Amino acid sequence: MAASAGPEIERLIGLLAKLPGLGPRSARRAALALLKRRDQLLIPLAAALAETAEKVVSCSVCGTPDTRDPCAICSDPARDNGLICVVEEAGALWAMERSGAFRGKYHVLGGLLSALDGVGPDALRVSELVGRVRGGGVREVVLALPATVDGQTTAHYLTDRIAGDGLEITSLARGVPVGGELDWLDDGTIVQALRARRPA
Ligand SMILES: [Zn+2]
Repeated sequence: MAASAGPEIERLIGLLAKLPGLGPRSARRAALALLKRRDQLLIPLAAALAETAEKVVSCSVCGTPDTRDPCAICSDPARDNGLICVVEEAGALWAMERSGAFRGKYHVLGGLLSALDGVGPDALRVSELVGRVRGGGVREVVLALPATVDGQTTAHYLTDRIAGDGLEITSLARGVPVGGELDWLDDGTIVQALRARRPA
């Protein structure tokens, strides 16, 4: 495709087009909106991106992106250390937090097992989860993974890996639509699914 804007703007468009949900057309529209609203949008966004790139790290305990390590959730003494909710990505964690229904800790896997895409346990934060559970003090692990083939394969695998005496392993009840990802759900559905969780 011939470049129609200058190289800097084409580079911006090319990067924006890599974002989920943005193709080349919407990336052009987004770039145009940024350029038109230089003071309100372009400059604050550039500063927010630079600050995020500089300060945000993955929590060494749970894998959540945050500016501190351990993250704010892992360091919160008011939260239940005996309860760990396992999620695919941080987006699901944010959705759970918006629902306000969960007062335990989290574990972000960083993806799902997928034979098709060649994603094995070593590509995910599985050994870290096993370590946390074996470390003691954990009563229950809630597997809040999608009801997709990969999600359920991952749930079964994790159940095998972490099962042990006195550990309860539960999964979210299926008020969650099949194939549904947590960050698309309304808070009420998450609250219900969490309350009605059951042994995995
Ligand atoms: Zn953390």
